[in-house]
Amino acid sequence: MLGWPFEQNIRTIPPENHSGYAFEVRRFFQITVSSIAVVIILLGAGYAYSHEAVYHVNLFQQYQQINRESFDAKLPYVSVSWADLSTQNTDGVTSFDDNDRPVSIELDRQHITSARDLRAVLRHQACHVSVGEKAAHGSAWQHCMDRFRD
Ligand SMILES: [Zn+2]
Repeated sequence: MLGWPFEQNIRTIPPENHSGYAFEVRRFFQITVSSIAVVIILLGAGYAYSHEAVYHVNLFQQYQQINRESFDAKLPYVSVSWADLSTQNTDGVTSFDDNDRPVSIELDRQHITSARDLRAVLRHQACHVSVGEKAAHGSAWQHCMDRFRD
């Protein structure tokens, strides 16, 4: 994709014209390198854009959407927020009070970079909310996750 218009230029140069050929080759590489740089910048911008976009999502609204779609809106209120969970090496945490009542869901900014990731992690945490802390990732939690299989 990157090279095709420039390769044609090179083929039209007479083989005895060495200095011109070298110039064209140099030019070809310069154009290719700058094209690659532009693509990298565009990919970076696209990545930054989607990364930004996922941060502007209303997290509680997303949680409530999953609650309505998959739990008949029976999940209790919990606060849902972004956090830095890098030291815990996880992309989401659900916290409970002393009576095993769910209190909050925290989501890791570094790990979650797309709407798809966000939904997957929120579904996982919604099942923790649903089955309680002691169930952990045991059979009750796994059974809860079954509802998300399409
Ligand atoms: Zn979990």
